[in-house]
Amino acid sequence: MLRLRNLLVTAAAVLAVLCCGSLTYTSDDHRPPNLIVIFCDDLGYGDLRSYGHPTIATPHLDQMAREGMLFTQFYSASPACTASRYALLTGRYPVRSGFDWVLYPKSERGLHPKEHTLAEGLKTAGYRTGCFGKWHLGSTKPEYLPLQNGFDAYVGLPYSNDMIPPKWPDIALLSGNDTLGMNPDQSLLTGLYTQVALDFMQQDDAAPFFVYLPFAMPHVPLYPGEAFEGHSRAGTYGDVVEEIDDAVGQIRSALDQAGLAENTLILFTSDNGPWIIKGADGGSAGHLRDGKGSTWEGGMRVPGIACWPGTIAPGQVQRAPVNTMDCYTTLLQLAGQDLPEDRLVDGQNLLPLLRGDTLADRPFFYYGPGNQLQSVRKGPWKLHQITSSQTGIDYFDGQLPLLFNLDEDPGERFDRAVEYPEVVAELQLLLKAQAAATEKEGTYWD
Ligand code: MG
Repeated sequence: MLRLRNLLVTAAAVLAVLCCGSLTYTSDDHRPPNLIVIFCDDLGYGDLRSYGHPTIATPHLDQMAREGMLFTQFYSASPACTASRYALLTGRYPVRSGFDWVLYPKSERGLHPKEHTLAEGLKTAGYRTGCFGKWHLGSTKPEYLPLQNGFDAYVGLPYSNDMIPPKWPDIALLSGNDTLGMNPDQSLLTGLYTQVALDFMQQDDAAPFFVYLPFAMPHVPLYPGEAFEGHSRAGTYGDVVEEIDDAVGQIRSALDQAGLAENTLILFTSDNGPWIIKGADGGSAGHLRDGKGSTWEGGMRVPGIACWPGTIAPGQVQRAPVNTMDCYTTLLQLAGQDLPEDRLVDGQNLLPLLRGDTLADRPFFYYGPGNQLQSVRKGPWKLHQITSSQTGIDYFDGQLPLLFNLDEDPGERFDRAVEYPEVVAELQLLLKAQAAATEKEGTYWD
């Protein structure tokens, strides 16, 4: 099992080769902002203090929310890991990709070379690009891996931290395309990813950086770092979340010390809702129904916090619905990059919202775990044409379609379908049209 010292020495050596330059930052108003996307794995809507958790202490994230914008309706584009990551990095609904759920160690599929990733666009704009953490967009061919998809540097596990022996083959910890070692001690992962991200941020001041930090935690199995064992009143789950919170504190502190805070946008969110059937090892969706794997709100509505001092006014609670696909569009436009014109991009530019303006109403938002669209939202209304549940509970005894007013009822407790048949009919048409459109589009694997 790999130990931290060896990991850090090796990873640092790799990064030093990839990114030569000084260790000091300069702030320059004329260059586009540095961009940091922190993407937790299975962190639930209710898992942070700033989202109401009573015992998990997240002071750094709470401070980030106080100094920036906390979203009450931030959605992942899928309740499953691979499809969600695809949407974040391409700005497109997962249904367009052919990723129907998650990839496994021997999956033949992966991110297709024809896809245009956020990292590729930012690299074209002159950014240094680093990914440190869980990839999960294909690993059986080199072209699926981060270095072939726009990242200058990568350190991490290529797929989920539960796909490990004895059920699965040995898992490699990668640095770039190379293997640093097999079956790393998972209690070291959050610390390792944080450290290599900090190193990457500090290794060149000539170009803006994009750091994508997809932590392995709090996906099970849970492994807090040694310093965080027993740290939380909320048990081991709380320990790993509090370690991530500490990592956010380290990153923000490094930016402050370098005078770069006002030239850096940080986005913090999660790939999908929590594992609510894992007992104390799972997270909380707060007042939302169900969790990971489900198109109920608890599966796809996640914490979302953005901070950019001087641009995002402090202390804002943003209630407009936004989603991870918007990150692709927003960050590319911040970098001065045009969106590709040879494909549909589903993300919207959130910059007006971040700057305090309103956003044009999102026409609709589709919910689906992969190749099946199950639900659609327009304004406050959400229609379930199909439901899926992590718990196996059929909450409404097979009754479909279901209609909820999420403004009044975010917990999806009161079905309004009988009262509003015209809304049901309109949303059913939207869902049908989108299903037909994406079916025609097909996938790159056809
Ligand atoms: Mg996940």
